[in-house]
Amino acid sequence: MLKVYYCPKCDETTYLQYDTNTDCRVCSSEMIKLDISFVDYTDLSVQKRKDYIASEFGKH
Ligand SMILES: [Zn+2]
Repeated sequence: MLKVYYCPKCDETTYLQYDTNTDCRVCSSEMIKLDISFVDYTDLSVQKRKDYIASEFGKH
């Protein structure tokens, strides 16, 4: 099962099968695993992905 990783620094998302090498390929920051499965995430529209990420990371 693929996992969704998100880079809060440059807004990049990537999908990884293992918890290794989670550095962002764009800015080399450490990426954060999202609490959503790859299937659920890819099922979301672009806007809903943004809403999801905003709700996860927009709390501060
Ligand atoms: Zn990044």
